[in-house]
Amino acid sequence: MKVGIVGAGICGLAAARTLKSAGHELVVFEKHTSVGGRVSTRQQDGFLWDSGATSIAPRGKKIEPVMLQELSTLDLIKIEKPIYVHKGLRVSPGHAAGATRYTYKQGNQRLAELLAEGIDVRLSTPVDSIDTVGKHYQILGEEFDALILTPPVPQTALLLWSLGETRPMTQVCYRHCISVLLGFKTPLPPTNYHALLDAEQVHPLTWICLESTKSPGRAPDGCSAITAQMNAAHSLSHFDLEDEILVGQVAGYLKRLYGEEFGEPHISKVKRWKYSQPESYATFDHVNRKGSRLLVASDGLLGGHVEDAYEIGTRTAALLVEED
Ligand SMILES: Cc1cc2nc3c(=O)[nH]c(=O)nc-3n(C[C@H](O)[C@H](O)[C@H](O)COP(=O)(O)OP(=O)(O)OC[C@H]3O[C@@H](n4cnc5c(N)ncnc54)[C@H](O)[C@@H]3O)c2cc1C
Repeated sequence: MKVGIVGAGICGLAAARTLKSAGHELVVFEKHTSVGGRVSTRQQDGFLWDSGATSIAPRGKKIEPVMLQELSTLDLIKIEKPIYVHKGLRVSPGHAAGATRYTYKQGNQRLAELLAEGIDVRLSTPVDSIDTVGKHYQILGEEFDALILTPPVPQTALLLWSLGETRPMTQVCYRHCISVLLGFKTPLPPTNYHALLDAEQVHPLTWICLESTKSPGRAPDGCSAITAQMNAAHSLSHFDLEDEILVGQVAGYLKRLYGEEFGEPHISKVKRWKYSQPESYATFDHVNRKGSRLLVASDGLLGGHVEDAYEIGTRTAALLVEED
């Protein structure tokens, strides 16, 4: 069977690995210049940030043996310090027992690069529409026996519409998220945590990840790197604000947490995610009818984490293999 997969995020790559190990032919189409999707790493001048998923918690799911045994573990780091909580920037250990979390030295995008080894991934190749030719599907002039669509649900819905198809998944909504990536010419003060969560989702900063505490080497000597994510409501209402204003807001909060030097970043970047994580879901079995050769594997059908993306990718591919 020849399968086309749209999207080289963790889900698409998981599907590709499953199909490849079952002996099928496959092609992965990715619109961006690199693999990973929402597992994305940015670097500049010796600073390194995870602009999407900041850590990976396998939680005993299918991705765990893949990360810990099948793929190279040379760059894999177990994050030693836990997540603390903040309430209006007042920090406490909170009650999060916390799963074991991992990151990669060169950034989490490394996981996608490792998964993509040996897979035919066509980078910088956006798929705008799908056609049918007899019983086959066609993408960019190439014919496939089956397709797996992995972009977030609203983007997958557009691809289905190009075929005149709809699926029962209109209830799936995603959160906006603005990630602000900052580099400072000063080290971070010692902390007992690597990240802070506003568990009540009230403060504009929902997640503060101390990149250079999480993993060594994320900033030049004597410097530090921080990724701050704004909460869903704040991200939505500030989505189109200029970078400078967003950076100023975040730096103002960091100054209150860590001191005067953190009020003026040496370097900054802003990444806007329109579809960061789903907040409502559709049911896999309703969306993907038995026997269909056009399958949806968006995270809006299962869960909004890396381990869920891997799970839904393998599950969707296994369904095709079973029915072949
Ligand atoms: C800011 C943020 C923080 C997060 N934090 C965490 C965390 O700490 N831990 C965690 O486990 N998870 C986290 N997540 C969630 C996690 O990143 C996602 O659940 C997971 O990466 C989704 O993978 P995916 O393969 O399903 O989708 P994606 O990663 O979105 O992959 C879909 C791919 O399809 C491509 N694509 C889309 N449309 C087309 C098209 N028309 N043609 C070709 N290619 C296309 C995209 O470019 C993308 O590469 C976070 C996400 C965000 C955004």
